[in-house]
Amino acid sequence: MRKDDCIFCKIAAGDIPSNTVYEDERFRVILDLNPASKGHALVLPKNHADDIFDLSEEDRASVLSVAARVAAAMKKALCCSGINIVQNNGESAGQTVKHFHLHIIPRYDGDSAMVLWNPGKSDPEEQKKTAESIKAALE
Ligand code: AMP
Ligand code: ZN
Repeated sequence: MRKDDCIFCKIAAGDIPSNTVYEDERFRVILDLNPASKGHALVLPKNHADDIFDLSEEDRASVLSVAARVAAAMKKALCCSGINIVQNNGESAGQTVKHFHLHIIPRYDGDSAMVLWNPGKSDPEEQKKTAESIKAALE
């Protein structure tokens, strides 16, 4: 299903041109317009979903295998030494386009692409409670 005012729906459908590196029935993989590194790509489902919570079960089940295929091709074609797979949900997480997408970011030794967080300290009791609350909320 498409959403009328969604730019990634238009790109995924091929109505807006893109640098496509892979396409199948469900997905189009394009190069990011503002790449963090050479080859930075986005996996776009052709069916609109706002974010991971909205993604169909079929797309959820196959999105990682598409990403893994493209990532393997990047290693061959671009000789990158590492790859980050990143996926943002919600403004606080840095999502700027409300159509689910998975970033595939090739990494090169000494590059300046930043996909990092500040490692915090964990309290064992707090961790236990946090794990319990997530487990209890699993459906
Ligand atoms: P996010 O911050 O996770 O929502 O990522 C959105 C990404 O989409 C950013 O990396 C943008 O550079 C990229 N982007 C936005 N518009 C386009 C476009 N028209 N074509 C390709 N990439 C785009
Ligand atoms: Zn869309």
